[in-house]
Amino acid sequence: MRSASDPLSPPTAANTSVTQIIDGKAIAATIRLEVADHVREHVAAGRRAPSLKVVLLGEDPASASYVRGKNRACAETGIDSETLTYGADLSEADLLQIIRSLNEDASVDGILVQLPLPDHIDEQKVLRAVSPAKDVDCFHPENVGRLVIGEPGFRPATPAGIMELLKRSGVETRGRSAVVIGRSNIVGKPMANLLVQKGIDATVTVCHSRTVDLPAVARSADILIAAIGRAEFVTAEMVKPGAAVIDVGMNRVGDPSRDRGYRLCGDVDFEGVAPIAGWITPVPGGVGPMTIAMLLKNTLFAATGLF
Ligand code: NAP
Repeated sequence: MRSASDPLSPPTAANTSVTQIIDGKAIAATIRLEVADHVREHVAAGRRAPSLKVVLLGEDPASASYVRGKNRACAETGIDSETLTYGADLSEADLLQIIRSLNEDASVDGILVQLPLPDHIDEQKVLRAVSPAKDVDCFHPENVGRLVIGEPGFRPATPAGIMELLKRSGVETRGRSAVVIGRSNIVGKPMANLLVQKGIDATVTVCHSRTVDLPAVARSADILIAAIGRAEFVTAEMVKPGAAVIDVGMNRVGDPSRDRGYRLCGDVDFEGVAPIAGWITPVPGGVGPMTIAMLLKNTLFAATGLF
């Protein structure tokens, strides 16, 4: 419900306009083309293509499918990617040794360890073993620290993708109230840190399962980010008219009418919220496609220092 005359004006009840459905698929496709252009230039200057190694343990079908998607996207943009696949019984010591070799291999720019790891492996220990210079997932504490203090560097893919969605959709952040629901290390916390940076300048509140009167806090948001993992948690009563609503959730909800027996559903009640929001991301086709696009950007950064 943004004003037609001033798209960045604060929303008011008098505003009359159309909700903008943010097309994450289209924005991600644009970013992939931008990355492909940079890779082409890099290679045309006589350097080798950026190289990403993905380490995958076991045969979890969801992980294997994510990894295939990452490899496909790399191939399309000219990034040289390879998946190193090991049995789920690989020992932690052997995995750490594999990561050490990749760290030392000058022909490797980016390293990604596909999560989740089997129970016998300490995930944090493994993520800290990846060289911060090759940490394209931005999970290493050194890179998390750089993000917090606003230094250039890797950015965690999903929150960085959301920042691109906001920027490329014309959502003003400066001085606006942003509420992030969820405080995970992968989404909620880095999201809040990106929004509060100088130059972005949002006033940020983070909610979680202990937040008192969460609907009232959510209703104060000009930008509402839902990263909860609960299907259709955010309803119209929790949304300020005209707000930008970003739905990170990817929940499987049983649906016998579908061949696969479920449908993908976000953390936002899209049907109820879309009519009052100024901007909204659909699920699927909103935040999801951005995550891989930003992984490509991080790999490009690892190889070239370019964003
Ligand atoms: P997570 O680690 O499970 O964190 C969920 C957060 O939501 C926690 O901070 C939790 O609070 C909070 N929460 C849970 N129930 C709540 C409630 N009733 N009221 C208030 N807060 C509540 O999940 P995540 O990894 O951040 O992922 C969140 C969602 O995003 C999931 O659906 C996931 O599949 C999806 N996701 C999508 C992408 C993508 O590329 N599109 C990427 C990553 C994740 P506490 O901390 O108090 O427990």
